[in-house]
Amino acid sequence: MAVPLIQAYKVGRYIATQKLRGVKRYPLVLMLEPLFQCNLACAGCGKIDYPKEILQKRVSLEDALRAVDECGAPMVSIPGGEPLIHKEMPQIVAGIVARKKFVYLCTNAILLAKHIDEYTPSPYLTFSIHLDGGRERHDESVCQEGVFDKAVAAIKLARGKGFRVTINCTLFSGEDPDHVAAFFDEAMALGIEGITVSPGYSYHHAPRQDVFLGRSASKRLFREIFKRGRSAGSRRRWSFNHSGLFLDFLAGNQAYQCTPWSTPTYNIFGWQRPCYLLSDEGHAPSYRSLLEDTPWDHYGVGRNPRCDNCMAHCGFEGTAVNDAFAHPLKALKAALRGPRVAGPMAPELPIVYEGRPTPAVTIPVTEVRRASRQSDDSRASSSAQ
Ligand code: SF4
Ligand code: SF4
Repeated sequence: MAVPLIQAYKVGRYIATQKLRGVKRYPLVLMLEPLFQCNLACAGCGKIDYPKEILQKRVSLEDALRAVDECGAPMVSIPGGEPLIHKEMPQIVAGIVARKKFVYLCTNAILLAKHIDEYTPSPYLTFSIHLDGGRERHDESVCQEGVFDKAVAAIKLARGKGFRVTINCTLFSGEDPDHVAAFFDEAMALGIEGITVSPGYSYHHAPRQDVFLGRSASKRLFREIFKRGRSAGSRRRWSFNHSGLFLDFLAGNQAYQCTPWSTPTYNIFGWQRPCYLLSDEGHAPSYRSLLEDTPWDHYGVGRNPRCDNCMAHCGFEGTAVNDAFAHPLKALKAALRGPRVAGPMAPELPIVYEGRPTPAVTIPVTEVRRASRQSDDSRASSSAQ
């Protein structure tokens, strides 16, 4: 199991309570994006394509903790941008830990050695280190040499100080399953608790569009990787930070629809509709409005062209967890046997979005940029006057 018993117990109890209460849509992981600024510019990143004044904005400590309380999810993932740039990050993390919520602080690790003593080891705090592959692959993915070595040094440092550490790995096109398997071995040997893995979502705002995998290619790749994880004589013991059924979904064996409300996203614009990945669909002023006013049936595979290539855990882990609660024996089998790596794949969901108007865009990035250019222009012309 990739998470400590206390976390499995508390999260399981939370889900069971929601089910008993008949709550239809409940959050599992709050995605708290405290800033979009980063000290890297990765090829597949869809988060940093904002003008300077947006990149300089921060979610304040008060707003961050208010979002945690408003949403009530038992786990909080803090991605970015790079969260360690945020000056109030230690206080934000301490506030969430004090609420006995499990925090995953996602970082590219470049600043971790500098800031690590601002944090206290706790069963409620995990550093989730961005690592997309071995040295060559990761440095290529983040478009900068030397980052892999820094991340590995940071993992060793954090483990040495008694922190929980996982890695957060995104797979792109051109992956070699042998290399990925060898990388998972290497990562586990560093003493990490588990691996979070997803095929990269094809962000419209990513600098490169040729790096993303389609769903069919993702499923084939995961089957090949999982085969290597159980090959005859293998001593591999990969621990994934996912449910057995989500891994089975990645291997193409589950026809799951997305559950976007399971991972609500809060950032400097408010509550992002509908999910962590789609940033052009508008923002809600409150968590209640996000839940009640978002046209959820416009999103998901086959329901929206922007969802067509998505197999991300922020959309489908919640579905897998729901399935596990509805079908515990199936979940137990998937957990014990691992994902099926041969035989027919589950059918794709039908396309139903043709003819449906695209939902209104409330804060399009292009408009933000245009507004920024206009204000730069007007500042330039007034200073010239
Ligand atoms: S993927 Fe992460 S590390 Fe890379 S630029 Fe984006 S936010 Fe920064
Ligand atoms: S499938 Fe779900 S998680 Fe993926 S982009 Fe669409 S709404 Fe977001």
